[in-house]
Amino acid sequence: VHTRSWISETPEKVSETVKVAGWVQSRRDHGGLIFFDLRDRSGLLQCVVKEGEPAYETAKELRAEYVVEITGELKERPANLQNPELATGTVELKVEELTVLNEAETPPFEINSGGDVSEELRMTYRYLDLRNERPKRNLELRHRIVRFMRDFLSEEGFWEIETPYITKGTPEGAREFVIPSRLRPGQFYTLPQSPQQFKQLLMVAGLERYFQIARAFRDEDPRGDRAYEHTQLDLEMSFVGRDEVLALTERLFTSLVKNVTSTKKLTSEPWPVLTYAETMEKYGTDKPDLRGDTTDPNELAFAFIIDFPLFKEGGDGKLTSEHHPFCMPHPEDVELIESDPRKIRAYSYDMVLNGYELASGSVRIHRRDVQERVFLALGLSEEEILERFGHLLRAFSFGAPPHAGIAPGVDRIAMILAGEPNIREVTAFPKTGDGRDLMMGAPSPLPEQLLEELHINVIPPKNEQT
Ligand code: ASP
Repeated sequence: VHTRSWISETPEKVSETVKVAGWVQSRRDHGGLIFFDLRDRSGLLQCVVKEGEPAYETAKELRAEYVVEITGELKERPANLQNPELATGTVELKVEELTVLNEAETPPFEINSGGDVSEELRMTYRYLDLRNERPKRNLELRHRIVRFMRDFLSEEGFWEIETPYITKGTPEGAREFVIPSRLRPGQFYTLPQSPQQFKQLLMVAGLERYFQIARAFRDEDPRGDRAYEHTQLDLEMSFVGRDEVLALTERLFTSLVKNVTSTKKLTSEPWPVLTYAETMEKYGTDKPDLRGDTTDPNELAFAFIIDFPLFKEGGDGKLTSEHHPFCMPHPEDVELIESDPRKIRAYSYDMVLNGYELASGSVRIHRRDVQERVFLALGLSEEEILERFGHLLRAFSFGAPPHAGIAPGVDRIAMILAGEPNIREVTAFPKTGDGRDLMMGAPSPLPEQLLEELHINVIPPKNEQT
């Protein structure tokens, strides 16, 4: 019995009899000689069958995307027939046994044809689209990125800890997705915009170093580098200040780039650190693109932006948080919370890369009194504060350690390292730009009975009301 070989291994197995399996990419009939390319996740392999050989009749029936299993002998191709374009171009498989494991209808687009296929069609048949080399390689790159992050942080003493997705709202400036509670009519959970409060509570719990490859949910209009759900490398550390978090982040990403890519070059090492005031004055943006040559796809200009304002104008004279309300004010600025809040600098930072905001983070408030003053400055009443954040304030009164963290976006780093124009290309099942899942057909109405069980009465949009 032969165990199955990956196609990528075949060049090292010349003159061995191997078993391979996968999809038929294309078949070429040369009168008495049939060639076809077999595709598995690892690559493509040319297969040959001659008239008169036992597999010939079956080979004649093969069509694109049929699933087959083949046993045969790997032959070295004569020098003039080698194909340098193909990783397995030095060999071909002389088919001895050929079994069709499943047939396939003609797919709506040809796999790996390089032709232009509309995004609608690609997303409706995403499982076929993913058979293409490019999205497949992107998912592989993403896997290596996440695996590197996990290994790196584990080595540094971090524990990967999961936090709930069905929870209570945490304010980070975006609209939240809500989940109705079936058991408690009229009450709702929300999907978290980030694990922010939970990771801080893990620090109060004394776990010291936490990370999670976490999904973050934001009900905002999707765009090129934003989606309803995105993935963050969320992390938090106790007994550290800003510089330790920045140093760890810089080490992590510098070694990540070296580890998962071979062509990328960093514009500067160590990474530049600019204050928010400086970058706004010099570049007019808080996400400057610091590449020396912006036409070079292999250049990576990482930088940190520090000292964002704690607050920004929220309209109608109110203040909102520039980042989120848990950021520590600069020690020298704490006294301004009541008198001149607009002047306060936060102990916060962003990590930028080639003009994208790749991460935000901060040193957190760990003292109950300071956190209460910040909530008051944000215009919350004492009651609202207790209602929404009582749990956090209570936790801070039981010996919360100083702590700080950051949350780099996994989709964005994958997008940039893959050289893709948007994060959909590095996401297995993305939604379209207008928030639909064309393959699953979401969103969709719910049956009347389910709505009733959830105690939901749907109010039709204004323009549909009569
Ligand atoms: N929770 C923040 C965010 O999602 C990141 C952080 O402050 O660690 O942007």
